[in-house]
Amino acid sequence: MTKPKKKLKIGVLTTGGDCPGLNAAIRAVVRTCIFYGHDVVGFLRGYEGLIENQFILMNSHSVSNILQRGGTILKTARSERFKTVEGRQKAAENLQSLSIDALIVIGGDGSFRGIETFTREHPIPVIGIPKTIDNDIYGTDTAIGYDTALNTVVQAIDKIRDTADSHDRLFFVEVMGRDAGMIAVLSGIGSGAEAILIPETKTRMEQIVQILKRGWNRKKTSMIVIVAEGDDAGGAYRIADEVKKKFEHFDTRVSVLGHMQRGGSPSCADRVLASRLGVAAVEALIEGRSNEMVGIVGNRIVHTPFPEVVNTKKEFPMDLMRIAEILSL
Ligand code: ADP
Repeated sequence: MTKPKKKLKIGVLTTGGDCPGLNAAIRAVVRTCIFYGHDVVGFLRGYEGLIENQFILMNSHSVSNILQRGGTILKTARSERFKTVEGRQKAAENLQSLSIDALIVIGGDGSFRGIETFTREHPIPVIGIPKTIDNDIYGTDTAIGYDTALNTVVQAIDKIRDTADSHDRLFFVEVMGRDAGMIAVLSGIGSGAEAILIPETKTRMEQIVQILKRGWNRKKTSMIVIVAEGDDAGGAYRIADEVKKKFEHFDTRVSVLGHMQRGGSPSCADRVLASRLGVAAVEALIEGRSNEMVGIVGNRIVHTPFPEVVNTKKEFPMDLMRIAEILSL
């Protein structure tokens, strides 16, 4: 790519829930800006930093030794004020006073919804980089943080399996996924779970009990049921109680994995994904693209307009549930 004539001042921020790989994305954005001769400013705590005018000037050194670190050096936050016209007006005034030419938003669905509203009121070129451990953003095969979260969950379940096996126990493991069962189904296949309960399908308790009875009759020494937190039958504690009522032979335990799923050093796959998307985001701005999210579909960089990203439901790979069912016999 040839270098553009005008030197740009590009703002970057991380917003919404945190996940591993955000630092790798920041590093990629900053280094790519420097490579093409542009200035880059990091806003702190997501949209709150735009409203509060809190930022740091970034250089190559500011992103040294962060590729492998979880969390985000720019911090992240949810911002109620950005949902108001006044809050967004303040953010626009600050961007103007700093002469920011364009923004790169590393965020999720909600963040893109917010910035889409913002650009309709205050036009400025924005490119989004998708991050979510739930992998439910339309316009990309996978998002930053998802692969690491999966590996964290599978490692945790492997450990739980050891104790379940030693004590002949049935474990209900609750994983993140308020609206999406992607973590549950992938980690379920990866850890050989006996059953997987997800928000996308109706949970029938009788069927779960049948599966567990079958395992019991086959003298399985341990059984694991993965429950996505948003499952329609309730959380892992409630489901464990229901199962216990219907089949009391089980020595049952519950483990809620919680926030550990958001932390830790990013996997190599997440580091590479974040690096590719970071470079693609800056290059998209340089090409004059605007109000789109960069993603990877079929191993190629694609650009999807924000309205399409936030208004299209990503298709859930239901065939994976079938695979999990076949293999859990
Ligand atoms: P994520 O981007 O991880 O999905 P959230 O849904 O919490 O996280 O969204 C992050 C931030 O984006 C919110 O705190 C808010 O500031 C902004 N946002 C979300 N939805 C809207 C909206 N409809 N209008 C304006 N801002 C929004």
